[in-house]
Amino acid sequence: MANKNLELIPLYEWGMFTEPRPSVIAGPCSAETEEQVMQTAAQLKEFGINVFRAGIWKPRTHPGCFEGVGTPGLKWMQRAKRELGLKIATEVASEKHVFECLKYGVDLVWLGARTTANPFLVQEIADALKDTDIPVLVKNPVNPDLDLWIGALERLNRAGIKKLGVIHRGFSTSDKIKYRNNPDWQIAIELRSRYPQLPFFVDPSHMAGSRDYIREISQRSLDLGFEGLMIESHCDPSCALSDAKQQLTPAQLEDLLYNQITVRDADSDSPQWKDNIDQLRAKIDIIDENILYALGSRMKVSRQIGEYKKNNNIAILQASRWDAVLEQVVAKGMEYGLDEKFITTVFNAIHEASVEAQNEILSGSQN
Ligand code: PEP
Ligand code: MN
Repeated sequence: MANKNLELIPLYEWGMFTEPRPSVIAGPCSAETEEQVMQTAAQLKEFGINVFRAGIWKPRTHPGCFEGVGTPGLKWMQRAKRELGLKIATEVASEKHVFECLKYGVDLVWLGARTTANPFLVQEIADALKDTDIPVLVKNPVNPDLDLWIGALERLNRAGIKKLGVIHRGFSTSDKIKYRNNPDWQIAIELRSRYPQLPFFVDPSHMAGSRDYIREISQRSLDLGFEGLMIESHCDPSCALSDAKQQLTPAQLEDLLYNQITVRDADSDSPQWKDNIDQLRAKIDIIDENILYALGSRMKVSRQIGEYKKNNNIAILQASRWDAVLEQVVAKGMEYGLDEKFITTVFNAIHEASVEAQNEILSGSQN
């Protein structure tokens, strides 16, 4: 589908974020009590956090779980805004949420992953936001569908929302992976290259699902040149009513931001070049990871074939089959601009490793 332009106001003109990178939105997964909101907000404010998040209405998988405190939480956030001078941000999932946020002076709203996946809701929210000046961040949909993500941006933009940005929080997957949600960085990179001016946040908390991986995801996101981070922080994560495992204490967040991540930016004679080379290297790292993942998956299937051959007493090597495969990959590879000799070398090496693995399986049967 043709790329429609988005009419955007740059992030640093929203009146809430300033350079240098990263722009940070921090706060608990959920507002729980007035004390928890005020205590967390005060501790974050102390080391320079200006935009405070807290979930008021929580989309939960099972009914009966803590589903957010609702409107009273907005009053606590409003107090944090008044007394600490913070900007306040929360998730909206319906027209009613938008009206409540406008009533209580919320400065920024975001659409959650489940909402972005639903064009009816996105439209309802866009209509409710019409003629307001409130910045809106759109999380990626739960499923890795870039068009659906862009569609949500278009709906909001058509409703006149120009202070518009995105939050990458990873995609749901049935594969067993180390993170709670799959980063699928290539989709994020694709979105960035289609809309280079679109403010880009990453949410390492929901992507990681565990505080142990927040640092590495934050670093990668900075290396890719993204502007902002949304990180969950709770004054006492062990008692959190939602997402306890992925929240940092404010002190841990301070340490992460000031000591553990490096912003490679504008520090050389040629900042443009440096920024680009870092971003390109980060892209290469991601592609390499994908290659390794693909090779691992291929080897798994190859071992299954080995088992099949063993059970049916079939020889490992069928030369004609390999010739056909090679011919096919050479033709395909050349379409991608790869050299014939290079493709042959790579695939012969893959084949050799595969035969070896199958040999091991078959020789296992003789013992
Ligand atoms: C959240 O930010 O608290 C949240 C529910 O996130 P997501 O929509 O990414 O699951
Ligand atoms: Mn959360």
